[in-house]
Amino acid sequence: MTAAPTIDENERSALRELVRRFVDAEVSPHVDAWEAAGEFPRALYRRAGELGLLGLGFPEEYGGLPGDHRSMIILTEELARAASGGLIAGLLSHGIGLPPIVHFGSDALKAELVPAILAGEKICALAITEPGGGSDVANLTTRARREGDEYIVDGSKIFITSGIRADVITTAVRTGGPGIAGISLLAIPGDAPGLTRTPLKKMGWRCSDTAALYFDGCRVPAGNLLGEENQGFLAIMRNFNGERLMIAAMAIAFAQVCLDESVAYARERHTFGKPLIRHQVIRHKLVDMATLIQPARAMLYDLAARVDRGEWPIAEVCILKNAATTCFERCAGEAVQIFGGAGYMEGTRVERLYRETKVLSIGGGAEEIMKDLAARQMGW
Ligand SMILES: Cc1cc2nc3c(=O)[nH]c(=O)nc-3n(C[C@H](O)[C@H](O)[C@H](O)COP(=O)(O)OP(=O)(O)OC[C@H]3O[C@@H](n4cnc5c(N)ncnc54)[C@H](O)[C@@H]3O)c2cc1C
Repeated sequence: MTAAPTIDENERSALRELVRRFVDAEVSPHVDAWEAAGEFPRALYRRAGELGLLGLGFPEEYGGLPGDHRSMIILTEELARAASGGLIAGLLSHGIGLPPIVHFGSDALKAELVPAILAGEKICALAITEPGGGSDVANLTTRARREGDEYIVDGSKIFITSGIRADVITTAVRTGGPGIAGISLLAIPGDAPGLTRTPLKKMGWRCSDTAALYFDGCRVPAGNLLGEENQGFLAIMRNFNGERLMIAAMAIAFAQVCLDESVAYARERHTFGKPLIRHQVIRHKLVDMATLIQPARAMLYDLAARVDRGEWPIAEVCILKNAATTCFERCAGEAVQIFGGAGYMEGTRVERLYRETKVLSIGGGAEEIMKDLAARQMGW
Protein backbone atom coordinates (compact mmCIF):
# COMPACT_ATOMS: atom_id res chain seq x y z
CA MET A 1 0.00 0.00 0.00
CA THR A 2 1.20 3.51 -0.74
CA ALA A 3 0.69 6.34 1.73
CA ALA A 4 -2.46 8.48 1.31
CA PRO A 5 -2.10 12.20 0.47
CA THR A 6 -2.44 13.75 3.91
CA ILE A 7 -3.84 17.17 4.80
CA ASP A 8 -2.57 19.46 7.56
CA GLU A 9 -4.23 20.39 10.87
CA ASN A 10 -5.63 23.69 9.54
CA GLU A 11 -7.26 21.92 6.63
CA ARG A 12 -8.68 19.31 9.02
CA SER A 13 -10.26 22.04 11.18
CA ALA A 14 -11.67 23.76 8.09
CA LEU A 15 -13.15 20.45 6.92
CA ARG A 16 -14.76 19.83 10.31
CA GLU A 17 -16.25 23.33 10.31
CA LEU A 18 -17.57 22.95 6.75
CA VAL A 19 -19.29 19.62 7.46
CA ARG A 20 -20.65 20.88 10.78
CA ARG A 21 -22.34 23.84 9.08
CA PHE A 22 -23.72 21.59 6.32
CA VAL A 23 -25.14 19.12 8.85
CA ASP A 24 -26.66 21.80 11.10
CA ALA A 25 -28.30 23.73 8.25
CA GLU A 26 -29.09 21.15 5.61
CA VAL A 27 -29.26 17.71 7.22
CA SER A 28 -30.30 17.62 10.90
CA PRO A 29 -33.52 19.63 10.48
CA HIS A 30 -34.79 17.12 7.89
CA VAL A 31 -33.58 13.75 9.15
CA ASP A 32 -36.79 12.76 10.94
CA ALA A 33 -38.83 13.46 7.80
CA TRP A 34 -36.37 11.54 5.60
CA GLU A 35 -36.43 8.57 7.97
CA ALA A 36 -40.24 8.56 7.88
CA ALA A 37 -40.26 8.85 4.08
CA GLY A 38 -37.70 6.02 3.74
CA GLU A 39 -35.35 8.15 1.63
CA PHE A 40 -33.39 11.38 1.55
CA PRO A 41 -33.51 13.64 -1.53
CA ARG A 42 -31.26 12.78 -4.42
CA ALA A 43 -30.32 16.48 -4.50
CA LEU A 44 -28.33 15.94 -1.29
CA TYR A 45 -25.67 14.06 -3.29
CA ARG A 46 -25.23 17.10 -5.54
CA ARG A 47 -24.98 19.41 -2.55
CA ALA A 48 -22.39 17.18 -0.86
CA GLY A 49 -20.58 17.00 -4.21
CA GLU A 50 -20.55 20.81 -4.53
CA LEU A 51 -19.02 21.09 -1.07
CA GLY A 52 -16.32 18.59 -2.07
CA LEU A 53 -17.42 16.04 0.53
CA LEU A 54 -17.87 13.18 -1.96
CA GLY A 55 -14.47 13.79 -3.53
CA LEU A 56 -12.37 13.52 -0.37
CA GLY A 57 -9.48 11.12 -0.87
CA PHE A 58 -10.21 10.50 -4.57
CA PRO A 59 -7.83 11.56 -7.39
CA GLU A 60 -7.88 15.27 -8.19
CA GLU A 61 -7.71 14.60 -11.96
CA TYR A 62 -11.26 13.18 -11.67
CA GLY A 63 -12.65 15.92 -9.47
CA GLY A 64 -11.47 14.57 -6.12
CA LEU A 65 -9.74 16.39 -3.30
CA PRO A 66 -6.73 15.52 -1.14
CA GLY A 67 -7.84 13.54 1.88
CA ASP A 68 -6.78 10.62 4.03
CA HIS A 69 -8.51 8.26 6.42
CA ARG A 70 -8.33 10.87 9.17
CA SER A 71 -10.29 13.29 6.94
CA MET A 72 -12.88 10.57 6.34
CA ILE A 73 -13.18 10.12 10.10
CA ILE A 74 -13.84 13.86 10.52
CA LEU A 75 -16.52 13.69 7.80
CA THR A 76 -18.11 10.68 9.52
CA GLU A 77 -17.96 12.22 13.02
CA GLU A 78 -19.68 15.38 11.84
CA LEU A 79 -22.32 13.62 9.72
CA ALA A 80 -23.00 11.34 12.71
CA ARG A 81 -24.22 14.35 14.68
CA ALA A 82 -27.43 14.07 12.62
CA ALA A 83 -27.89 10.64 14.26
CA SER A 84 -28.82 8.73 11.12
CA GLY A 85 -26.70 5.80 9.96
CA GLY A 86 -28.90 5.46 6.88
CA LEU A 87 -27.92 8.93 5.78
CA ILE A 88 -24.19 8.19 6.06
CA ALA A 89 -24.47 4.75 4.46
CA GLY A 90 -26.52 6.10 1.54
CA LEU A 91 -24.74 9.40 0.94
CA LEU A 92 -21.31 7.75 1.13
CA SER A 93 -22.10 4.44 -0.62
CA HIS A 94 -19.57 5.49 -3.29
CA GLY A 95 -16.97 5.10 -0.50
CA ILE A 96 -17.25 1.32 -0.98
CA GLY A 97 -18.42 1.18 -4.60
CA LEU A 98 -16.01 3.61 -6.22
CA PRO A 99 -12.48 2.57 -5.08
CA PRO A 100 -12.41 -0.56 -7.31
CA ILE A 101 -13.44 1.58 -10.30
CA VAL A 102 -10.71 4.13 -9.52
CA HIS A 103 -8.02 1.48 -8.91
CA PHE A 104 -8.89 -1.03 -11.62
CA GLY A 105 -11.22 0.59 -14.18
CA SER A 106 -10.08 1.52 -17.71
CA ASP A 107 -9.27 5.19 -18.37
CA ALA A 108 -12.44 5.51 -20.49
CA LEU A 109 -14.63 4.05 -17.72
CA LYS A 110 -13.05 6.29 -15.07
CA ALA A 111 -13.53 9.39 -17.24
CA GLU A 112 -17.18 8.44 -17.76
CA LEU A 113 -18.05 7.61 -14.14
CA VAL A 114 -15.73 9.09 -11.54
CA PRO A 115 -16.27 12.87 -12.05
CA ALA A 116 -20.06 12.38 -12.18
CA ILE A 117 -20.07 10.31 -8.98
CA LEU A 118 -17.84 12.76 -7.09
CA ALA A 119 -20.07 15.64 -8.22
CA GLY A 120 -23.11 13.81 -6.84
CA GLU A 121 -24.67 13.48 -10.29
CA LYS A 122 -24.44 9.69 -10.30
CA ILE A 123 -24.86 7.26 -7.40
CA CYS A 124 -22.52 4.30 -6.91
CA ALA A 125 -23.11 1.10 -4.91
CA LEU A 126 -21.21 -2.09 -4.11
CA ALA A 127 -22.83 -5.53 -4.51
CA ILE A 128 -21.03 -8.49 -2.94
CA THR A 129 -23.62 -10.19 -0.71
CA GLU A 130 -25.90 -12.86 -2.18
CA PRO A 131 -29.06 -14.52 -0.87
CA GLY A 132 -27.01 -17.73 -0.44
CA GLY A 133 -24.56 -16.00 1.91
CA GLY A 134 -22.58 -12.84 2.53
CA SER A 135 -19.77 -13.98 4.82
CA ASP A 136 -18.44 -16.67 2.50
CA VAL A 137 -17.43 -14.32 -0.32
CA ALA A 138 -15.16 -16.93 -1.91
CA ASN A 139 -18.18 -19.05 -2.80
CA LEU A 140 -20.39 -16.43 -4.44
CA THR A 141 -22.44 -17.78 -7.35
CA THR A 142 -23.59 -14.85 -9.54
CA ARG A 143 -22.14 -15.77 -12.95
CA ALA A 144 -20.80 -13.61 -15.74
CA ARG A 145 -19.82 -15.16 -19.08
CA ARG A 146 -18.18 -13.30 -21.92
CA GLU A 147 -20.13 -13.12 -25.21
CA GLY A 148 -18.46 -10.90 -27.80
CA ASP A 149 -18.15 -7.37 -26.45
CA GLU A 150 -20.39 -8.06 -23.46
CA TYR A 151 -20.66 -10.04 -20.26
CA ILE A 152 -23.95 -11.82 -19.63
CA VAL A 153 -24.71 -11.85 -15.91
CA ASP A 154 -27.10 -14.26 -14.14
CA GLY A 155 -27.75 -14.43 -10.41
CA SER A 156 -28.77 -12.13 -7.58
CA LYS A 157 -27.46 -9.88 -4.82
CA ILE A 158 -29.11 -8.84 -1.60
CA PHE A 159 -29.02 -6.11 1.09
CA ILE A 160 -27.33 -3.68 -1.32
CA THR A 161 -27.07 -0.11 0.03
CA SER A 162 -28.17 2.47 -2.58
CA GLY A 163 -29.12 -0.52 -4.75
CA ILE A 164 -32.36 1.01 -6.04
CA ARG A 165 -31.02 4.45 -6.91
CA ALA A 166 -27.49 3.51 -8.01
CA ASP A 167 -26.48 4.48 -11.55
CA VAL A 168 -23.56 2.08 -11.36
CA ILE A 169 -23.10 -0.99 -9.17
CA THR A 170 -19.64 -2.47 -8.59
CA THR A 171 -20.58 -6.14 -8.57
CA ALA A 172 -18.69 -9.29 -7.62
CA VAL A 173 -19.29 -12.05 -10.17
CA ARG A 174 -17.94 -15.49 -10.91
CA THR A 175 -16.14 -15.60 -14.25
CA GLY A 176 -13.98 -18.65 -13.57
CA GLY A 177 -13.90 -21.83 -11.51
CA PRO A 178 -14.77 -22.30 -7.83
CA GLY A 179 -13.18 -20.39 -4.98
CA ILE A 180 -11.28 -17.12 -4.82
CA ALA A 181 -9.51 -17.62 -8.14
CA GLY A 182 -12.73 -17.37 -10.18
CA ILE A 183 -14.06 -13.99 -9.01
CA SER A 184 -14.13 -10.72 -10.97
CA LEU A 185 -15.56 -7.24 -10.48
CA LEU A 186 -17.88 -5.62 -13.01
CA ALA A 187 -19.23 -2.07 -12.99
CA ILE A 188 -22.86 -2.74 -13.91
CA PRO A 189 -24.97 0.23 -15.06
CA GLY A 190 -28.21 0.66 -13.12
CA ASP A 191 -30.15 0.62 -16.40
CA ALA A 192 -28.42 -2.48 -17.83
CA PRO A 193 -30.94 -4.66 -19.71
CA GLY A 194 -31.81 -7.72 -17.60
CA LEU A 195 -31.28 -6.04 -14.20
CA THR A 196 -34.30 -5.64 -11.90
CA ARG A 197 -34.27 -4.33 -8.32
CA THR A 198 -36.61 -4.63 -5.36
CA PRO A 199 -36.56 -2.40 -2.27
CA LEU A 200 -36.23 -4.05 1.16
CA LYS A 201 -37.71 -2.86 4.48
CA LYS A 202 -35.45 -2.88 7.51
CA MET A 203 -35.09 -2.34 11.27
CA GLY A 204 -32.94 0.78 10.96
CA TRP A 205 -31.06 2.87 8.38
CA ARG A 206 -34.53 3.69 7.08
CA CYS A 207 -33.63 6.70 4.96
CA SER A 208 -31.12 4.66 2.97
CA ASP A 209 -32.31 2.46 0.16
CA THR A 210 -31.47 -1.22 0.46
CA ALA A 211 -32.19 -3.53 -2.45
CA ALA A 212 -32.29 -7.04 -3.82
CA LEU A 213 -30.84 -7.16 -7.34
CA TYR A 214 -31.76 -9.78 -9.94
CA PHE A 215 -29.62 -10.37 -13.02
CA ASP A 216 -31.41 -12.32 -15.71
CA GLY A 217 -29.26 -12.48 -18.83
CA CYS A 218 -28.11 -8.97 -17.88
CA ARG A 219 -25.88 -7.44 -20.58
CA VAL A 220 -22.85 -5.43 -19.49
CA PRO A 221 -20.18 -3.94 -21.80
CA ALA A 222 -16.94 -5.95 -21.53
CA GLY A 223 -15.08 -2.67 -20.96
CA ASN A 224 -16.79 -2.45 -17.56
CA LEU A 225 -14.59 -5.24 -16.18
CA LEU A 226 -12.52 -3.85 -13.31
CA GLY A 227 -8.97 -5.21 -13.53
CA GLU A 228 -8.14 -8.64 -14.86
CA GLU A 229 -10.64 -11.45 -15.12
CA ASN A 230 -10.59 -13.73 -12.04
CA GLN A 231 -8.45 -11.29 -10.03
CA GLY A 232 -11.34 -9.65 -8.16
CA PHE A 233 -11.03 -11.33 -4.76
CA LEU A 234 -7.96 -9.38 -3.67
CA ALA A 235 -9.61 -6.11 -4.72
CA ILE A 236 -12.68 -7.03 -2.65
CA MET A 237 -10.55 -7.78 0.42
CA ARG A 238 -8.63 -4.54 0.02
CA ASN A 239 -11.95 -2.68 -0.22
CA PHE A 240 -13.26 -4.40 2.94
CA ASN A 241 -10.34 -3.02 4.97
CA GLY A 242 -11.28 0.58 4.19
CA GLU A 243 -14.97 -0.15 4.80
CA ARG A 244 -14.24 -1.69 8.21
CA LEU A 245 -12.24 1.31 9.34
CA MET A 246 -15.12 3.58 8.34
CA ILE A 247 -17.73 1.36 10.04
CA ALA A 248 -15.64 1.63 13.21
CA ALA A 249 -15.55 5.42 12.81
CA MET A 250 -19.33 5.48 12.43
CA ALA A 251 -19.92 3.25 15.46
CA ILE A 252 -17.68 5.33 17.73
CA ALA A 253 -19.18 8.61 16.49
CA PHE A 254 -22.70 7.32 17.18
CA ALA A 255 -21.65 6.04 20.62
CA GLN A 256 -20.50 9.60 21.35
CA VAL A 257 -23.90 10.95 20.22
CA CYS A 258 -25.55 8.48 22.63
CA LEU A 259 -23.36 9.76 25.46
CA ASP A 260 -23.98 13.44 24.62
CA GLU A 261 -27.73 12.88 24.39
CA SER A 262 -27.68 11.00 27.71
CA VAL A 263 -25.76 13.72 29.54
CA ALA A 264 -28.13 16.42 28.25
CA TYR A 265 -31.22 14.39 29.20
CA ALA A 266 -29.84 13.44 32.61
CA ARG A 267 -29.26 17.12 33.42
CA GLU A 268 -32.86 18.03 32.48
CA ARG A 269 -34.84 15.10 33.84
CA HIS A 270 -35.66 15.10 37.56
CA THR A 271 -36.57 12.04 39.66
CA PHE A 272 -36.81 11.74 43.43
CA GLY A 273 -36.32 15.49 43.78
CA LYS A 274 -33.07 15.91 41.87
CA PRO A 275 -31.70 15.76 38.31
CA LEU A 276 -31.00 12.24 37.06
CA ILE A 277 -27.34 13.14 36.69
CA ARG A 278 -27.06 13.62 40.45
CA HIS A 279 -27.91 9.93 41.01
CA GLN A 280 -24.64 8.03 41.29
CA VAL A 281 -25.93 5.04 39.29
CA ILE A 282 -26.66 7.30 36.31
CA ARG A 283 -23.30 9.10 36.57
CA HIS A 284 -21.58 5.73 36.58
CA LYS A 285 -23.46 4.71 33.44
CA LEU A 286 -22.19 7.85 31.73
CA VAL A 287 -18.63 7.15 32.82
CA ASP A 288 -18.98 3.54 31.68
CA MET A 289 -19.94 4.83 28.24
CA ALA A 290 -16.95 7.19 28.13
CA THR A 291 -14.74 4.31 29.29
CA LEU A 292 -15.71 2.33 26.19
CA ILE A 293 -15.59 5.26 23.76
CA GLN A 294 -12.23 6.78 24.64
CA PRO A 295 -9.96 3.75 24.07
CA ALA A 296 -11.91 2.75 20.93
CA ARG A 297 -11.43 6.25 19.53
CA ALA A 298 -7.73 6.26 20.41
CA MET A 299 -7.33 2.95 18.57
CA LEU A 300 -9.30 4.30 15.58
CA TYR A 301 -7.11 7.40 15.24
CA ASP A 302 -3.94 5.37 15.69
CA LEU A 303 -4.92 2.78 13.05
CA ALA A 304 -6.12 5.48 10.64
CA ALA A 305 -2.74 7.22 10.94
CA ARG A 306 -0.96 3.90 10.31
CA VAL A 307 -3.10 3.18 7.26
CA ASP A 308 -2.43 6.72 6.01
CA ARG A 309 1.31 5.95 6.30
CA GLY A 310 0.80 2.97 3.99
CA GLU A 311 0.50 0.12 6.53
CA TRP A 312 -2.37 -2.39 6.45
CA PRO A 313 -2.82 -3.79 9.97
CA ILE A 314 -5.61 -6.24 9.03
CA ALA A 315 -5.95 -8.03 12.39
CA GLU A 316 -6.05 -4.74 14.30
CA VAL A 317 -8.72 -3.35 11.95
CA CYS A 318 -10.87 -6.46 12.62
CA ILE A 319 -10.39 -6.06 16.39
CA LEU A 320 -11.15 -2.33 16.15
CA LYS A 321 -14.37 -2.97 14.20
CA ASN A 322 -15.58 -5.35 16.90
CA ALA A 323 -14.50 -3.05 19.76
CA ALA A 324 -16.24 -0.09 18.10
CA THR A 325 -19.51 -1.89 17.34
CA THR A 326 -19.64 -3.45 20.82
CA CYS A 327 -19.02 0.01 22.28
CA PHE A 328 -21.91 1.43 20.20
CA GLU A 329 -24.28 -1.40 21.19
CA ARG A 330 -23.53 -0.87 24.88
CA CYS A 331 -23.78 2.93 24.69
CA ALA A 332 -27.04 2.87 22.71
CA GLY A 333 -28.52 0.39 25.21
CA GLU A 334 -27.54 2.54 28.18
CA ALA A 335 -28.77 5.70 26.46
CA VAL A 336 -32.23 4.22 25.92
CA GLN A 337 -32.21 3.06 29.56
CA ILE A 338 -31.34 6.56 30.80
CA PHE A 339 -34.13 8.05 28.67
CA GLY A 340 -36.58 5.52 30.14
CA GLY A 341 -39.93 5.34 28.29
CA ALA A 342 -38.99 8.34 26.16
CA GLY A 343 -36.07 6.35 24.80
CA TYR A 344 -38.50 3.74 23.48
CA MET A 345 -40.54 6.31 21.58
CA GLU A 346 -40.01 7.17 17.94
CA GLY A 347 -38.66 10.67 17.56
CA THR A 348 -35.81 10.46 20.05
CA ARG A 349 -32.37 10.18 18.53
CA VAL A 350 -31.37 7.41 20.92
CA GLU A 351 -34.33 5.27 19.84
CA ARG A 352 -33.20 5.51 16.23
CA LEU A 353 -29.56 4.83 17.08
CA TYR A 354 -30.53 1.80 19.18
CA ARG A 355 -32.20 0.32 16.07
CA GLU A 356 -29.06 1.04 14.08
CA THR A 357 -26.54 -0.81 16.24
CA LYS A 358 -26.91 -4.32 14.82
CA VAL A 359 -26.26 -3.47 11.20
CA LEU A 360 -22.74 -2.31 12.07
CA SER A 361 -21.79 -5.59 13.73
CA ILE A 362 -23.19 -7.52 10.73
CA GLY A 363 -22.28 -5.41 7.67
CA GLY A 364 -18.80 -5.17 6.13
CA GLY A 365 -17.83 -8.51 7.73
CA ALA A 366 -19.81 -9.79 10.71
CA GLU A 367 -18.39 -9.89 14.23
CA GLU A 368 -17.72 -13.63 14.07
CA ILE A 369 -15.94 -13.32 10.73
CA MET A 370 -13.79 -10.47 12.11
CA LYS A 371 -12.65 -12.72 14.97
CA ASP A 372 -11.83 -15.57 12.61
CA LEU A 373 -9.84 -13.30 10.29
CA ALA A 374 -7.97 -11.65 13.18
CA ALA A 375 -7.05 -15.07 14.58
CA ARG A 376 -5.79 -16.28 11.20
CA GLN A 377 -3.78 -13.08 10.67
CA MET A 378 -2.11 -13.60 14.03
CA GLY A 379 -1.30 -17.21 13.17
CA TRP A 380 -3.59 -18.71 15.85
C1 LIG B 1 -28.65 -2.60 6.05
C2 LIG B 1 -27.62 -3.45 5.37
C3 LIG B 1 -26.87 -2.90 4.32
C4 LIG B 1 -25.94 -3.69 3.65
N1 LIG B 1 -25.27 -3.15 2.57
C5 LIG B 1 -24.51 -3.98 1.80
C6 LIG B 1 -23.91 -3.49 0.59
O1 LIG B 1 -24.02 -2.29 0.25
N2 LIG B 1 -23.23 -4.35 -0.19
C7 LIG B 1 -23.09 -5.67 0.15
O2 LIG B 1 -22.46 -6.42 -0.61
N3 LIG B 1 -23.62 -6.16 1.30
C8 LIG B 1 -24.33 -5.35 2.12
N4 LIG B 1 -24.89 -5.84 3.28
C9 LIG B 1 -24.74 -7.25 3.59
C10 LIG B 1 -23.77 -7.56 4.73
O3 LIG B 1 -22.46 -7.27 4.37
C11 LIG B 1 -24.02 -9.04 5.06
O4 LIG B 1 -25.29 -9.12 5.69
C12 LIG B 1 -22.93 -9.62 5.97
O5 LIG B 1 -21.71 -9.72 5.28
C13 LIG B 1 -23.32 -11.01 6.51
O6 LIG B 1 -23.72 -11.84 5.48
P1 LIG B 1 -25.12 -12.64 5.62
O7 LIG B 1 -26.16 -11.68 6.01
O8 LIG B 1 -25.35 -13.41 4.38
O9 LIG B 1 -24.90 -13.61 6.84
P2 LIG B 1 -24.30 -15.11 6.79
O10 LIG B 1 -23.03 -15.11 6.03
O11 LIG B 1 -25.37 -16.04 6.38
O12 LIG B 1 -23.98 -15.33 8.33
C14 LIG B 1 -25.02 -15.43 9.29
C15 LIG B 1 -24.39 -15.38 10.69
O13 LIG B 1 -23.53 -16.49 10.86
C16 LIG B 1 -22.22 -16.05 11.19
N5 LIG B 1 -21.25 -16.90 10.51
C17 LIG B 1 -21.14 -17.13 9.18
N6 LIG B 1 -20.10 -17.94 8.93
C18 LIG B 1 -19.54 -18.23 10.13
C19 LIG B 1 -18.42 -19.00 10.54
N7 LIG B 1 -17.64 -19.62 9.65
N8 LIG B 1 -18.15 -19.08 11.85
C20 LIG B 1 -18.91 -18.44 12.76
N9 LIG B 1 -19.97 -17.66 12.43
C21 LIG B 1 -20.28 -17.56 11.13
C22 LIG B 1 -22.12 -14.63 10.67
O14 LIG B 1 -21.15 -13.91 11.38
C23 LIG B 1 -23.54 -14.14 10.94
O15 LIG B 1 -23.64 -13.75 12.28
C24 LIG B 1 -25.75 -5.04 4.03
C25 LIG B 1 -26.47 -5.57 5.10
C26 LIG B 1 -27.39 -4.80 5.77
C27 LIG B 1 -28.16 -5.42 6.90
